Amino acid sequence: RGTCGSPGQPPTLPAPQKVVATWEAISLGRRPVPEYFNFAHDVLDMWSQLEKAGHRPPIPAFWWVDGMGAEVKWSFEELGEQSRKAANVLGGVCGLQPGDRVMLVLPRLPEWWLVSVACMRTGAVMIPGISQLTEKDLRFRLQASKAKCIITNDSTAPQVDAISADCPSLQTKLLVSDSSRPSWVNFRELLREASTEHSCARTKSQDPLAIYFTSGTTGNPKMVEHTQASYGLGFVASGRRWVALTESDIFWNTTDTGWVKAAWTLFSAWPNGSCIFVHKLPQVDAKTILNTLSRFPITTLCCVPTIFRLLVQEDLTRYQFQSLKHCLAGGEALNPDVREKWKSQTGLELHEGYGQSETVVICANPKGSKIKSGSMGTASPPYDVQIVDDEGNVLPPGGEGDIAIRVRPTRPFCFFSCYLDNPEKTAASERGDFYITGDRAHVDKDGYFWFMGRNDDVIISSSYRIGPIEVESALAEHPAVLESAVVSSPDPTRGEVVKAFIVLSPAYSSRDPETLTWELQEHVKRVTAPYKYPRKVEFVSELPKTVSGKIQRSKLRRQEWEK
Ligand code: ATP
Ligand code: MG
Repeated sequence: RGTCGSPGQPPTLPAPQKVVATWEAISLGRRPVPEYFNFAHDVLDMWSQLEKAGHRPPIPAFWWVDGMGAEVKWSFEELGEQSRKAANVLGGVCGLQPGDRVMLVLPRLPEWWLVSVACMRTGAVMIPGISQLTEKDLRFRLQASKAKCIITNDSTAPQVDAISADCPSLQTKLLVSDSSRPSWVNFRELLREASTEHSCARTKSQDPLAIYFTSGTTGNPKMVEHTQASYGLGFVASGRRWVALTESDIFWNTTDTGWVKAAWTLFSAWPNGSCIFVHKLPQVDAKTILNTLSRFPITTLCCVPTIFRLLVQEDLTRYQFQSLKHCLAGGEALNPDVREKWKSQTGLELHEGYGQSETVVICANPKGSKIKSGSMGTASPPYDVQIVDDEGNVLPPGGEGDIAIRVRPTRPFCFFSCYLDNPEKTAASERGDFYITGDRAHVDKDGYFWFMGRNDDVIISSSYRIGPIEVESALAEHPAVLESAVVSSPDPTRGEVVKAFIVLSPAYSSRDPETLTWELQEHVKRVTAPYKYPRKVEFVSELPKTVSGKIQRSKLRRQEWEK
């Protein structure tokens, strides 16, 4: 079964490079996607075999630390055994069948990775969610997805109890905890007793693997469905091209487990035989991150730009990173100033990537490629990425338009199936031969993409079109600015003008606001085209953000226009 080998067939084990090259060729669209595919069986169990045959350095496949001295380390073989036990819990007590939906809301605990793999083994569809979900968020997600089971811990269980009567599809509540709770089944107890024998579900490549709720930066989150192959094989190429992973690498992505980036990490790292490193990170804190990079042999780091903005506030020259050699940012625009500060203090380049819950990596700056500061890099194969106009025509280099991915005549396999239960929204996301991302940019003659902003975030002032990112990046170059969000604000003569909400660096917080406003306006006029300068400035203590750390400009804009 599957195409990529199966357990119990060691006599002619191919070299890992050959195995990975096959997956990479599929990922790049150069080989057909197999009819049947299951990541746990075809990729993880294969690595178990390769590991046993001595084809990996002696590093774990999964390495979790809590920062207080506790550690969990699993080889591929141990991960296989533990996840087979977990699959027996899901298929046994929870009675989950292939296609059943499971909501997974856990902080960065090893069980998140275990349950993810167990879902693949049972064929259940996982729906990750972030731990900060409120009762309302949980009700919305459980009702919309009709999940049969929820797996969470003590901190979220009370919220689930408060709303579970409103969620008729919910049959089993599984608690990841050392204590028990009425009406909940204890996962850890069951796991201890479960059998290690499990027969992996025979999933087709097109079967659903996961449902993600988008971040909800622009409105209500949408349910995005991915298939076994779209995620399971879709990240192999970018794992090699952008993340540049090999079987000796230890990859730390600080992302929350509820966000797509946790899945991106899983599906980029494990096909390449790399180790996934996780810190419990109860709070995202710059010093903890920098100390962890100094104490552990992490080779590859990925964070959202918000975190890099925090890191560069520290004196980075005081830290000696043990093994770090490749750094990545994604999920939001990376201000060039942050990249330059990181590089000048650590000697390490920051490689930006761009993608969505709906896709795999769309654009990236691969390791070793020429970086143009402020650009998201070039199109990531197999996607044909273009800038298109309102009619879906491809624009030449330099023209501003929508970032679009070609879906006709052939829809890339590494792509969401649909917005579940929302055919109108799915249809509206396409124009002519293209899927429209909802983001604006231009591409230069060398194929580098320059992000301007989300469609709704672009400001039109006196008929000039202004992208918030350029203004925010200009502001970021001033030492007074910790971070900023730029939105449109109503103006009687210009229609709308540029307004900047600014969080000041501590050293500037007691400065006279009027003088500082003038200074910052002059600064923007100097470093970018003068028409882009913020005519209105407001100093704030923090910016509204999604839990994944993205600035919610739409909230600030609404506030401005409703004033
Ligand atoms: P929603 O669709 O619910 O409003 P969302 O678009 O934020 O939420 P995600 O799918 O998590 O949900 O995020 C994808 C979006 O994040 C992209 O469409 C883009 O706007 C932004 N993004 C991701 N990477 C980058 C990047 N490198 N530069 C600029 N923006 C980025
Ligand atoms: Mg979106």
